[in-house]
Amino acid sequence: MNLARLLPLPPGRVRTDLAALLVHECDALTLFRERPLAVVYPETTAEVAAAVRALAAHGIPVVPRGAGTGLSGGARPCATGVVLDLGKMDRILAIDAPSRTAHVQAGAVNARVSEAAAPFGLFFAPDPSSQMACTIGGNVACGSGGPHCLRYGTMTDHVRAVTLVDATGDVHEVSDESLLSLVVGSEGTLGIVTEARLRLEPVPPAVATLLLAFRTMRAACEAVAAILAEGFVPAALEILDRRAVAMVEDSVFSAGYPRDAAAVLLAEIDGTAAEVEEAVSWIGARWTARRARDAAERAALWRGRKGAFGAMGRVSEECYVVDCVVPRSRMAEALERIDAMAERNGLTLVNVFHAGDGNLHPLIAYRRADAARVQEAGREITGICVSLGGSLTGEHGIGVEKRDFMGMLFDAPSLAAMERVRKAFDPQGILNPGKVLPGPKVCAEAVRRDDAFRVVDGGGRGGR
Ligand SMILES: Cc1cc2nc3c(=O)[nH]c(=O)nc-3n(C[C@H](O)[C@H](O)[C@H](O)COP(=O)(O)OP(=O)(O)OC[C@H]3O[C@@H](n4cnc5c(N)ncnc54)[C@H](O)[C@@H]3O)c2cc1C
Repeated sequence: MNLARLLPLPPGRVRTDLAALLVHECDALTLFRERPLAVVYPETTAEVAAAVRALAAHGIPVVPRGAGTGLSGGARPCATGVVLDLGKMDRILAIDAPSRTAHVQAGAVNARVSEAAAPFGLFFAPDPSSQMACTIGGNVACGSGGPHCLRYGTMTDHVRAVTLVDATGDVHEVSDESLLSLVVGSEGTLGIVTEARLRLEPVPPAVATLLLAFRTMRAACEAVAAILAEGFVPAALEILDRRAVAMVEDSVFSAGYPRDAAAVLLAEIDGTAAEVEEAVSWIGARWTARRARDAAERAALWRGRKGAFGAMGRVSEECYVVDCVVPRSRMAEALERIDAMAERNGLTLVNVFHAGDGNLHPLIAYRRADAARVQEAGREITGICVSLGGSLTGEHGIGVEKRDFMGMLFDAPSLAAMERVRKAFDPQGILNPGKVLPGPKVCAEAVRRDDAFRVVDGGGRGGR
């Protein structure tokens, strides 16, 4: 069987050459790699539908992919399937200013939405630190967040409707809230998002960005709790520990953070001028805070935080970012236990996190040879957070990374109920198999293996 002939798509949409396969063999969680049979690059919803229909007829798995910045292995391919790369579907179709809505294709890059909305005095609030690359389809699928989701909410609060191609290739316009809440965060297991209508926010009239330094991490966490307990809801409250500050300051993302602090807190407050000044003076009365004087200084302070994961690239060949949530009141305790675990195991670990949401991101530097040890550390960190009343993921999703950890939080009947929901959408199990729910380890076990299947078009890998 020839994949390029099997799929009723214009020429050039299917690639099986080694370069295409290698680029897609993992996402930003490089611990898990697998080479797909082929990569398909659709350009319209109709092409996605036609591809899925043809693949479904042969029981061939489909792994949707945006930019591949995911950190839980959600877009890791399946050796018996294809990757559906939506990166060419990157158009902003319309900005409807009166109804504060953006209509975009799934491959549109997150940061481009706010750029397109800016002339109308609007912006798109969910702002993952990967926003210069990650796509709206990936954001919808992961239920993504970002520093500014403390005040504005995550993707769940910002998706009004999606165009969804189901597991048979049928196209649906989904705007019903309960259905939407299933699709957002479903990590490509319930359907393929091809377009989205997004809620936009008015650009706030005033904003202040503050940098606070603390002698202990516990004091920084207590400051976060105190600010929120007072009733302020800043746009963002982000913490970096001492090691993260050093890493950032040694890199091109240097932001002028104080190296001698045990933790720095980046607080951004927005709203009316009166609201902003009230919060700034309340904070200023309790802690020493450096306030960015203009937009350039604000951008510089954010450069450090948003570039922190990238800064890790200077110190390590590989990096694993764990994403867990704990109640804000347990953040300091969780961090102490995580740091102690890292020290016990001789791991280089830094903390950069969405403190206002209790969303921790321990970053572990490692060499490929240490992959198993690092995966075990991820399990321990997740266990610590769950034991403190937290959750498995705040924003990066379950993917392959945490599918075997689902039992830490959910009992067997709950997992079986989730499996039934998934089957209702995808009875054949071709959409992103082997992800999210515990089950067969290898995607080949999840779907019917078509032994007659063989790639013969152009491929660097030859037939399978
Ligand atoms: C440096 C860095 C910083 C990050 N910071 C943040 C952060 O602050 N907040 C945050 O939430 N995340 C963050 N992330 C994680 C990641 O960027 C997000 O999860 C993002 O939403 C992934 O988008 P993507 O387009 O790269 O999706 P991919 O990685 O390509 O895919 C992610 C998942 O979505 C599925 N998928 C992709 N497109 C579609 C589609 N059209 N239809 C159905 N399913 C689809 C895939 O199958 C996969 O399961 C960061 C990542 C990096 C590398």
